[in-house]
Order: sequence, then C-alpha cells, then structure tokens
Amino acid sequence: DQPSLTVPDSPQEIKELGNAFNELLDAQNQRLQHEKDFVSNASHELKTPIAAIRGNINLIKRHGDKHPDVIPESLGFIDEESLRMQNLITNLLHLSRADRADLVLKKVNLSEIAEQIGNQYKKTLAHKLKLNITPGLNISGNTDTLKQIIVALLDNANKYSPEETAITLALEKSHGKVKLSVKDLGVGIPDDQKKLIFQRFYRVDTSHSTEIKGSGLGLSIVSQLIKINNGDIVVLDNQPKGSIFEISFDEV
Ligand code: ADP
Repeated sequence: DQPSLTVPDSPQEIKELGNAFNELLDAQNQRLQHEKDFVSNASHELKTPIAAIRGNINLIKRHGDKHPDVIPESLGFIDEESLRMQNLITNLLHLSRADRADLVLKKVNLSEIAEQIGNQYKKTLAHKLKLNITPGLNISGNTDTLKQIIVALLDNANKYSPEETAITLALEKSHGKVKLSVKDLGVGIPDDQKKLIFQRFYRVDTSHSTEIKGSGLGLSIVSQLIKINNGDIVVLDNQPKGSIFEISFDEV
C-alpha cells in the first residue's frame, strides 16, 4: 500500500502548516545567531591575550636594551597570557568535539570511575577532598567524557572555594537515580545565575570571577558532555555556604 499524502486544503490546515514553517525558520535563525555570537565571543577572548603578548614584546624590543629589568616581568606576562590562550583553544576544541554526540555508550561502573578520579585529584589539591562513594553503581555512559565531567567540576570547586575548606565528591543512589555530586564551601552562586553559568562564556559578575582566571567555557562543555551521557544536572546551595553540582543518571 502506498502511504496516502494528504494535501492541506482547509484554511485551518494551511494556517497550521504556515505556523509550523515559521517555527522552523525561527529555530534556524536562532541557531545561526548562536553560532555568530559564539564566533564573536571566541574572537574577542583570543584577542585580549594576543594584545597583551604583543604589547609586552614591543616593550622588550623598545626598552629591553637600555632597561633590561623590564624583560623578566614582560616575559612573565607573555608566559601567563600564552597559557591562557592555550587553555582557551583547548576548551574550544573540546566544545566543537562535544557538539558531535557520536560516542558509544556502554555499561560502566561510575563508582570506580569517581573513586579513580577522586584519588588522582587528591594529590594535586591543596583542599581536603572527601570521597563519599557508594560502590557498585553502574550507568550507561562513556568513561572518558564522564572523567572529563568530574575533573571539570572538581576544578571549579577548587577555583571558587578557599583552600582551608573541604570539597566533597559523592556518589549515591537516591530516588531511583544514581547521583554524582561535587560540593564546595566557597563563594556560591546566586539563584538567578544558576542556569546562566552553563552558557558559553558566561561568568558570574563578581569580584571573585575577575580575580579568578577562567574563560566561562568549562560548564558549557560539562553540560554538553552530560547530555551525551543522558544525565541531568542541577545546581544547589550548599550549607552553610558554597555550591553543589548534582548530576542524576539512570542506574543500569
Ligand atoms: P570559568 O570557571 O572558566 O569562568 P565555567 O564555565 O566553568 O567557567 O563556570 C562559569 C562560571 O560559573 C564561573 O565563572 C563562576 O562564576 C561560576 N562557577 C562555576 N563553578 C562554581 C563554583 N563551584 N562555585 C562558585 N561559582 C562557580
């Protein structure tokens, strides 16, 4: 049997078709606008360190002979800014790769993954890292991207909380879900920004963020990687202060 093709003939049907078509166009325009914003944000973020590097090179060229004392300080700036560029480019590459959600998911032991990353991370950290991991929790996921998610959240907890406070990496089963959380006792995130921080280049506008270096790309990468692993993330306030990033997965 040939499927029958229905041609809209009533005014109502034609109107509905028109609406559907307009919605499709709006979605397409929005995507294009996002792409444009992304390219212009990325260019802006790269221009800043390049300007600083070129400025310091010029300084050395012009004054290095007569005032060699400017050299070590300028080299320090060049070193710092080139590292910033390198991190930014690495993040941009991660983002473009995370866009292609073509990773194969399989049954993985998230408890083992969290335990392994937690123990590795502990060694590099000035904070005390508490591991609170229920063993034997399996999900359907991709090991490399799950590790990347945990490291990114620990990096942020480390950046946005004072060294004398503890960070907790926890994994538990709750309400039928496997929940992975990273908790810190740091600066916290205002309620109206809890969703915005997942947007590309978004940084909470406080003195903390200007003091603490970052590109605002980490959490947008995390958000895409969580989507690939079929998880959901929420941000909550920790007690008495700080933040909790909690990801829920289905157990398998
Ligand atoms: P970056 O840290 O490079 O700025 P992210 O995308 O990782 O970028 O985070 C976006 C913003 O969210 C940060 O600039 C910071 O303002 C806020 N943020 C992220 N994690 C935390 C945290 N654990 N505590 C407080 N603020 C955080």
